[in-house]
Amino acid sequence: MKIVFFGNSGGIQGSSGGNTSFAVHTGQSLVLVDSSGSPLENLAHSALNPELIDALLLTHSHIDHIYALPSLIHNLWLSGRSRTLAIHSNRETLAKASEIIDVFGLRQKKAMFPIELNECTDSSFEIKDLRITPFPVNHLVPATGFVFDDGSSRIACFADCNSSTPIPDAARSCSLMVHEAGIGGKPDHSSGREAGLAAKEAGALELLLVHLPQSPELRARILSDARSVFRNTGIPVLFKEIEI
Ligand SMILES: [Zn+2]
Ligand SMILES: [Zn+2]
Repeated sequence: MKIVFFGNSGGIQGSSGGNTSFAVHTGQSLVLVDSSGSPLENLAHSALNPELIDALLLTHSHIDHIYALPSLIHNLWLSGRSRTLAIHSNRETLAKASEIIDVFGLRQKKAMFPIELNECTDSSFEIKDLRITPFPVNHLVPATGFVFDDGSSRIACFADCNSSTPIPDAARSCSLMVHEAGIGGKPDHSSGREAGLAAKEAGALELLLVHLPQSPELRARILSDARSVFRNTGIPVLFKEIEI
């Protein structure tokens, strides 16, 4: 299983990177998580074929996680997509996704491909060779994390969340945890140290920090705070495939 990050920043975009979004793929399946920046440009930079996108998972309805959804759909339509795009998320996020799709009348475009909105429950679902387990996380709005399992490794992706978020069973002993980390003191987000503690509690093998501030100095401090409790921590390099 491979993961490639298109952005690793929080709400503010800048030279350190765009808003956090990424792709998980196996060669058979390609799934996007959140939609920000220029989705097809991001895929091109990552040498991923947009025709192969099976599904989009949305973590929550905050603007930095969903604003590029209309552009993604528009680009896929312009590119001649005909097969269904499945979107998975919690009910509140799907409602917001539906609203921003309709602002631009995308569903009324001629020969628009089917857009399927799937509400996540406690149950796992499968996309080709990937088993995906959604789980709730504690944030300002309803938010959903996802565990990806290809049968040989597991990636646990936490959405924006605070440190009271329970670790789901599916994330325990995962190969990789992807967790947000900020400067701390924000009630609906996690600090670097809290992200490290989550990885330690889960028994993860590796931790990658996302949703970071732009400042390189702050990033270095957050990374160091996380490493003080969980040594195998890094910050993902953008557009570089990571094999898990
Ligand atoms: Zn966010
Ligand atoms: Zn958020």
